Amino acid sequence: MSKPDYPLKSPYATGLSGRCPRCGKGRMFKGLLQIAPTCEVCGLDMKFANETGDGPAVFVTLFAGFFVLGLVLWMELTWQPSVWVYVLVFAPLTPLICVGALRLLKGLLIALLYVNKAEQGRLQ
Ligand SMILES: [Zn+2]
Repeated sequence: MSKPDYPLKSPYATGLSGRCPRCGKGRMFKGLLQIAPTCEVCGLDMKFANETGDGPAVFVTLFAGFFVLGLVLWMELTWQPSVWVYVLVFAPLTPLICVGALRLLKGLLIALLYVNKAEQGRLQ
């Protein structure tokens, strides 16, 4: 039994939408951030997705921290609110930004891994 050929999908479209990098229809994520073991539509084994490791988390930490700190500085310079306003705004906003950005970046990196057939270096 031969597998059907799939036309190459844009890793940006499939990755950012959390869709399977091969068929573009199945879901890449089982939960919020957990990768599904296989695609429910084309059966793509998602084991290769472990190759992303901590890569997305590093980018999210750097960029989300920069973004949130920029917002805090902008709020302070514009309105100078009291401390409880920062707690009320940024305690829920920061995790939302981080988890949302982590899901987008994880999906994008997994789709880029698939499209570029990236894998660990091996000695012959
Ligand atoms: Zn698929």
